[in-house]
Formats: sequence, C-alpha cells, structure tokens
Amino acid sequence: MMYDVLVIGSGPSGLAAAACAAERGLKTAVLERNDIPARKVYATGNGRCNFSNAAARWSWETVPWMQGHAGIEPAEEEGRIYPRSFEAASVAEALVRAAKRAGAEIVCGACAISVQKKEQGFVVECQDGRVFESAKLVLSTGGKAGIQYGCYGDGYKFAQSLGHSVIKPIPALDGMVCAEDIKELHGVRVRAKATVIKRPAEGAAAETALASSTGEVQFTKDSISGICVMDLARQLRKEEGSSFVLSLDLFPEKTAEELKAFLPARRDTFGCGLDWLLPAKLKDYLHSRKAELAATGLRGPAAMAVLCKDLRFEITGTRGWKSAQTTCGGVPLAEVDKNSFESVKTPGLFITGELLDYDGPCGGYNIDWALHTGIGAGNSI
Ligand SMILES: Cc1cc2nc3c(=O)[nH]c(=O)nc-3n(C[C@H](O)[C@H](O)[C@H](O)COP(=O)(O)OP(=O)(O)OC[C@H]3O[C@@H](n4cnc5c(N)ncnc54)[C@H](O)[C@@H]3O)c2cc1C
Repeated sequence: MMYDVLVIGSGPSGLAAAACAAERGLKTAVLERNDIPARKVYATGNGRCNFSNAAARWSWETVPWMQGHAGIEPAEEEGRIYPRSFEAASVAEALVRAAKRAGAEIVCGACAISVQKKEQGFVVECQDGRVFESAKLVLSTGGKAGIQYGCYGDGYKFAQSLGHSVIKPIPALDGMVCAEDIKELHGVRVRAKATVIKRPAEGAAAETALASSTGEVQFTKDSISGICVMDLARQLRKEEGSSFVLSLDLFPEKTAEELKAFLPARRDTFGCGLDWLLPAKLKDYLHSRKAELAATGLRGPAAMAVLCKDLRFEITGTRGWKSAQTTCGGVPLAEVDKNSFESVKTPGLFITGELLDYDGPCGGYNIDWALHTGIGAGNSI
C-alpha cells in the first residue's frame, strides 16, 4: 500500500498533520493501533478537552485552525480554551472528520511495529503483517502518558531506529507519591505554595529548590496532587543518589515573621491558633508532627508557624504513566526543524506532538503544542 504520506498515531498532532497534508491533495493515511481514533482526546480536560489557552504560544494559529478546518468554535474560561460544547468528544470527532474530509484514510487496528528508511521513502510494518509504504513519514505516536489509551512509547524506538536520540521520558503533569503515611489527610484540599526541593546524594552540596507553584493542593491516601503540584512533577528527574522533598507553604500570603506574630496574637485574642484557618484534618495532622514542632526551638503557635511555612513530604516519585497527563523528555527539539518539524537526521521524516521533548503546564498548552506541530508538519509536507 503506497502513500505520499503515512502518519503513525491518530492523536491531535497526527490528525492535524494528516488533514493539512491531505488538503493539499497528497494521498495520506493515518495508522492507529487502537480500534478507534483519537481515543485519548475523549479523556482530556476532565471530559471537556482544554485544547488551547489564551496565553499559549501558538493559540493564534491553533484556535483559528480548529475553527476554520475542523469546525470547532472556541469557548474561553479563565484563559483556558474549550470547544463551545464543553465536550471532549466534539474535538475528537471534529479532528477525525477534518482528516477524512480532506481525503485522508484512517486505518484503525494498525499497530506499527517497525519503520525503515528505503531509497524511495519509508516502509512501515504492522503487527498483523500489513506493510505500508510512503514517500514521507510522520511519527505522531505521543509519549507514554496515559498508557491505557495506547501510548506505550513506541515512537521512541521508531525515532531511534531512524537516527534520533531520545531524552529519557519521565511522567509529567502527575501527582507525587509520599513516603510518609498521609492516610489521615485523604480528601483534604488546601491552597498552598508548593516547592520541589532536590536533596543531593549524601556528602554533596546543599539542597536546591527547583521550582514552585501556587494553587489548590489535594491529598489522597498516599499522594499529593492538584494542578500546582502536577505542574511540578517534571522536576522529579532523578540523578544517582538524589532524592526529592515537596515543601508546602500553607500561608503563602504571609512571611514567616508575620505568621509567627499572627498565630500567637490569634490565640491570645480568640483562644485559638490555627483553628478555622486550615481544614480541621490538616490542623490535626500538623499537631501530629510533634518532633518537627519541637525542633523549631519555639513553642505553641510560633512553632506551628514555622512548620506551616515549610511542611515537608518525602517524595518517592510520581504516580506513574497511567495517571500522568504528559511526558517530559523525548526526541530533542534540536533534532527537528522548528517550523516544519522535519528531522535533521532523516530527510522526509517528521516528528510531532508529545513524542518531542516538549511539555507544557496544565491549561491547554499540550494539545496546543500537538496541534501546532501537526499543522506545521502537514503544511510543510
Ligand atoms: C487524562 C488526560 C487528560 C489530558 N487533558 C489535557 C487537556 O485538557 N489539555 C491539554 O492540552 N492536554 C491534555 N492532556 C495531554 C494531551 O492529551 C496530549 O499532550 C496530546 O494528546 C498529545 O498529542 P499527540 O498527538 O502527540 O499524541 P497522542 O494524543 O498521545 O496520540 C498518539 C496516538 O498514537 C497511537 N499510537 C501509539 N503507538 C502506535 C503504534 N505503534 N502504531 C499505531 N498507533 C500508535 C496511540 O494509540 C494514540 O492514539 C491530557 C492527557 C491525559 C492522559
């Protein structure tokens, strides 16, 4: 089966690439391992698909493209851009329809297992023995996040077989698993400033604060999440012997000195220190960390103020590929042209979306990137 363009993967980047290439009259097919295309898109944005953001770098291109080529009218909520229906299925269906309307074929149940460069183009072999050939090849297989939606990291192997390097993929936009027993905090939500701190291997230099983010922090029985924590997950790239701590500042609006004065004054006036300032379960938990309170060298509310400004949890890692929303790492951006996303290693090969070493924060930045790279590759082909 000979095509001008073969795209492996029917996520937003692959479908956008296929639509753009087919719109120009190129014989295009999309190979998808799942039984339905765009499966992951149905799960995005809590079922609403936040596909771009007013502040996203390529929203000037992706939002009008979705409107003009896929029939998706945007609706904005605090900068986040959704389809007007607020249903992720609309985006999935619209992208599939855009590719098909342009003339692209979508071949589901076609799991690519190897790709090869031949003199005239590319040969893709599928698990069921089918073989597809094309002049140009687009790798749009995503990363490893949301592994249950068909993303097993196959694209890394394909890219490597065609001369690319791969920066080790780690889960990003994910909750963090704690070493401590935090069962009693299950269900607690609190506004805080979260900071990831890297502790070096024993004997090495001092610890380093890697990044911070403020927002609602959510506790489960063994992990900590919430958008601000998920945005920090990409920092957990482990080096030999290093470990990580998540520090929560439960009063980001006050300095340590202000809090040290504020809590004792509250106790003197109202007969309470922390009461009614934090969820009751969290307040009880803070009291249970007596050793740390004693270590402050202070007593009562003043000691509590110190703990509240730097409440630490030992982090063993992220929750993993099933719950992560994107991948940090992948094919280095330096190995593709920054407009066409054509490989600088293998001419005729294009790499798009999450397979590349790019990951944005929560808020529509990752689908924005997927669409941008798909549109860039498809148009340039
Ligand atoms: C639960 C969840 C919620 C999310 N919510 C949002 C959100 O609201 N906003 C946002 O911006 N981002 C969100 N993301 C991230 C976003 O979905 C991804 O960044 C985006 O889908 C990446 O697009 P892609 O085209 O690169 O790859 P993907 O969407 O991952 O698509 C890759 C496709 O390739 C197929 N494939 C893989 N290997 C093969 C193979 N060997 N042969 C054939 N086919 C193959 C896969 O089955 C898959 O269909 C969310 C992710 C998850 C998991």
